[in-house]
Amino acid sequence: MQLTVLGSGTIAHSPTRSCAAYYLEAGDARVLVDCGPGTVRRLAELGIDWRAITHVALSHFHIDHHLDLPALLFAWKYGQLPPRSAPVDIIGPAGLKSLLEKLAAAHGDWVLDPGYPVRITELAPGTGMPMGDALLDGLKVPHTPESMAYSVSRNGRRIVYSGDTGFITALADWARDCDVLLLECSLPTSMAVVEHLTPEQCATIAARANPRLLALTHLYPPVEQVDIKALVRETYAGPVEIVHDGWVTTI
Ligand SMILES: [Zn+2]
Ligand SMILES: [Zn+2]
Repeated sequence: MQLTVLGSGTIAHSPTRSCAAYYLEAGDARVLVDCGPGTVRRLAELGIDWRAITHVALSHFHIDHHLDLPALLFAWKYGQLPPRSAPVDIIGPAGLKSLLEKLAAAHGDWVLDPGYPVRITELAPGTGMPMGDALLDGLKVPHTPESMAYSVSRNGRRIVYSGDTGFITALADWARDCDVLLLECSLPTSMAVVEHLTPEQCATIAARANPRLLALTHLYPPVEQVDIKALVRETYAGPVEIVHDGWVTTI
């Protein structure tokens, strides 16, 4: 599998960090995980064939994680010749169908019926969903009522993405011994809120999960004013990366 970070930022505007979006190649599946504003721009900048995306998985319904979804659906209809005919799977927590219906009410019926099949799956945590020969699964995390973390497994390799989350040890247990643990690292301890993680909390989760690589993302500007790696290393001794837009790893 290959993971490309499209957006390592948040809704706090940044010239270098776009809103949340990640692109994963897993066998034949071309998966966009979250789709915040700036995603279509980053896909173009990084030369990723956005027309080939097969699945879009949303972690939760905050704007910084889904606003470019209508733009992408529109691009597949009007931004390529010939227009898309292949189906796309859109996956998310309970409430996804309602969200898409609201987007259709705002923008037009094409959101749900763009001329190619849009298959909507509300993924119940723990049930699993095949994406080609890869398996997607979810874990409920504390952030919004619907928010989920995701896991993608293929050929004995596994990546876990926290989405946005507050501190939860169940995430560490669920992610145990994964290859890449992609954790949100939103705020420094001085600005901590229960809906997000601090570097110290990321370290506590990683120390329990024991991933091959801890990758930190979803950085608000204030957390970049502290020495994130030094704070993490007080508790967690394994490899850690603070990712940036365009960061790529092969799993
Ligand atoms: Zn967010
Ligand atoms: Zn959020």
